[in-house]
Amino acid sequence: MRLITRCAVTAVLATSAVVPALAQSTPAAASPREVSGVVEAPLARARALMKDVPLIDGHNDLPWAMREGTRYDFDKVDIAKSQPQLMTDIPRIRAGHLGGQFWSVYVPATLQGDAAVSATLEQVDAVYEMLRRYPETFALARTAADVERAFKDGKVASMIGVEGGHSIDSSLGTLRMFSRLGARYMTLAYGTDLPWAGAAGEDTQGLSPFGQEVVREMNRLGMLVDLSHTSTRTMADALRVTQAPVFFSHSSARAVCDVPRNVPDDILRQLPRNGGVVMVTFVPGFISEDAAAASRRTQAQVAQFLTQFPDNPAARQQALVEWRTSNPEPRATLAQVADHIDHIRTVAGIDHLGLGGDFDGITSVVQGLEDVSTYPALVAELLRRGYSDIDVRKILGLNVLRVMRRAEEVATRLQGAGAPSIKTIDQLDGVARKGQPVTPAR
Ligand SMILES: [Zn+2]
Repeated sequence: MRLITRCAVTAVLATSAVVPALAQSTPAAASPREVSGVVEAPLARARALMKDVPLIDGHNDLPWAMREGTRYDFDKVDIAKSQPQLMTDIPRIRAGHLGGQFWSVYVPATLQGDAAVSATLEQVDAVYEMLRRYPETFALARTAADVERAFKDGKVASMIGVEGGHSIDSSLGTLRMFSRLGARYMTLAYGTDLPWAGAAGEDTQGLSPFGQEVVREMNRLGMLVDLSHTSTRTMADALRVTQAPVFFSHSSARAVCDVPRNVPDDILRQLPRNGGVVMVTFVPGFISEDAAAASRRTQAQVAQFLTQFPDNPAARQQALVEWRTSNPEPRATLAQVADHIDHIRTVAGIDHLGLGGDFDGITSVVQGLEDVSTYPALVAELLRRGYSDIDVRKILGLNVLRVMRRAEEVATRLQGAGAPSIKTIDQLDGVARKGQPVTPAR
């Protein structure tokens, strides 16, 4: 069975899951460091570094949680106040020193064609509404310079990430419009294979000629090519085609936890040449193999509850809560997340690491990383493991800022060299879009 994150789980539950925040910190500092004669504990050092360099997280599903929970009603769920049913609210964003966030405008893969496009537009609209309502906290960012400016102003630089190529309905024009709306990355495939890109799972499909054209057009637009959720073949094909660094918005290391959503070593080894970055995720099922097995059992139950209560999301949610209570899952730990970071540093190098928590996109949480307030605990763990200040700065934000800058440079060059692609999927792959005629041969 394919592993899914809450993005998919919530699609069938149709409600935002409530995960109790268990504020669990890691063991006390083992090796305080002396700075200018003052002994500084790792947590204090972590916070100091996070005031210096923005922590930029690759993936957060708050827009989907708002859609599912209240149909985007920020009056009902005012994130300026504590919202314990969520993993993200402004008080915890501030406590966690979140400096930049790619907000996911995810829609489930059960939506395809026009329905996926319009639902994704509603998600983008929700991000804009959040920025409008909380201007003291958030600022839209399209470029690395925008991120740095927002951080300097004490705001959370807010980028938009499209989670899945189904959101563009095999249309480069639609891709370009999402880019104009501010989308800075698109995940090529999510959940299920597209006609032009393979998703994580069976790994039977890579990029079709049209899929390769999508990557080229994303390079031209300066959108990051996100390879989380894609098949290994899609990752390899994208690395061959792209002229800009790739981006894994929320994935960890397959050698540490063998699930298709994680990045295998042979792909990690290509990152130094490509310049890309893996934003290590906190999805328990991608961190610990015990949690992964438990997650598969939970997914089987979710599928069963969907059959049992097809038209009653509240009953599904209640059944899941009861099932979870009687079947507690083994917890993945913060130290195990750090193990993934250690592995990627060993195989790809310190320049190819970032963080992508997937908060509000998961139904269970890593012990010690329960919500957006907990990032400093992970940074403190890295410091305890001997990561230097510069290592930590790179993981927090410098690496992803470098990737964004490089993508912007590539875009400038490509925009100077040629016009937008007007190629279609039927021309390149001989596949018609739903409801669209095949272009007549000329
Ligand atoms: Zn996801």
